[in-house]
Amino acid sequence: MTKPKIVILGAGYGGIITSKSLEKLLKSGEADVTLINKHDYHYLTTQLHKTGVGTAADRQIAMSIPELINPAKTRFLKAAVSSVDIHSQGVHLEGGETVTYDYLLIALGFEVETFGIPGVKENAFKIRSFRSTKIIYHQIVKQFNLYKQDYDPSRLTFVVAGGGFTGIEMLGELADGLPKLCKEHDIPFEKIRIIGIEAAPSVIPFFPKQSIEYTQEVLEKRNIEVITATKILECTPEKVLLENNLEIPTRTLIWSCGVKGNTIVHKWGLPIEKGKIPVDSYLRVKNSKNIFSIGDCSLFMKDEKNALPPTAQVALQQAPVCAKNIVASIRGESLKTFEYHHKGSVASIGLMAAVGKVGNFRLSGMFGAFMKQVIEARYLFNLGGPSLIIKQHFGVSREQV
Ligand code: FAD
Repeated sequence: MTKPKIVILGAGYGGIITSKSLEKLLKSGEADVTLINKHDYHYLTTQLHKTGVGTAADRQIAMSIPELINPAKTRFLKAAVSSVDIHSQGVHLEGGETVTYDYLLIALGFEVETFGIPGVKENAFKIRSFRSTKIIYHQIVKQFNLYKQDYDPSRLTFVVAGGGFTGIEMLGELADGLPKLCKEHDIPFEKIRIIGIEAAPSVIPFFPKQSIEYTQEVLEKRNIEVITATKILECTPEKVLLENNLEIPTRTLIWSCGVKGNTIVHKWGLPIEKGKIPVDSYLRVKNSKNIFSIGDCSLFMKDEKNALPPTAQVALQQAPVCAKNIVASIRGESLKTFEYHHKGSVASIGLMAAVGKVGNFRLSGMFGAFMKQVIEARYLFNLGGPSLIIKQHFGVSREQV
């Protein structure tokens, strides 16, 4: 009898943890597992703001996928998926190869939402991937170098669009990282402007009043200018145009105004709702028995009206359940219903401050920042054990520990 073929698309939080769970759950020789990702590294999306400002070493954010998986149990293919044929059960890769599956997991993550605002797609810098945030870092350094030639202040003005969690994390990181970068590049830090723009009346509007006030206070103390209740109307390579005839001359608009599901899945003949792949309570794509989807590209309704948000926390809770259900499907056993338990959320504002809520506790200050680090370390521990934490923080190869 031929072994069932499990194919996982995407090695972000959802995909990599599912493949690690399958390594534990499957008996030797029970199934062939192939993990496909367009890069050969897995990156910590929740830490990408650090790559953008250069406050973390690359190895702390991106790690080799072949080193994270067990090659005896999981085959890794570095390739970009171009389409899936659900009738012939084939995944087509850029370059022409086709990989067939019996069970498919689609965990292809998110795309940046630009809401069709003119010039944003072309000119704004996106916090989307390891590569896109490296581009932000190079943009900052490039503007520093050009400033030394023309002394144009717009080159030293860094604007972050969006005052949600990602936006304030980016603002805090700029305030943390730019003084050192300025020193390295001989730029007077006092000439730097860091500006946050938010359309809602306050930053993190979905949080309690005390958290909002605390966040505003921290941003103010760090000389970050925050413009609220103001929409961005257009972005050009030289400026950002806002409501009320405001404009900010800048070469660097960093966009963090929201995400949508990866639109690549729209043309594959799968059901699509709210731009995402709707799944049932077992994480199977609606009307399908052998295709699963988790994370930001999927739509899981927690009740009749509300879907789960696109967060790492959701993807990470879905992954082990999804792995169990794939194995149960192969074995003809009953499937487990996915239940989400919200554990809280914390956003850093630079290294020494954070804001959020865990359980019933409102977090802020250094304790919040410490909790944020604990959450990240816990993920690394689950992914690769203590040796991965040591490697990430001290740059030691896993074989040495
Ligand atoms: P992803 O992690 O995006 O993984 C998708 C993978 O698919 C990637 O590896 C990508 O390279 C690959 N891929 C995409 N297209 C293709 C293709 N065509 N072919 C092959 N491979 C492909 N959530 C939290 O819970 N807490 C936080 O503190 C938090 N902070 C965040 C901070 C930032 C800056 C950002 C951007 C997001 C943050 N989030 C946070 C949200 C969280 O990162 C996402 O919800 C999470 O990454 C979703 O996981 P995923 O597995 O669905 O997708």
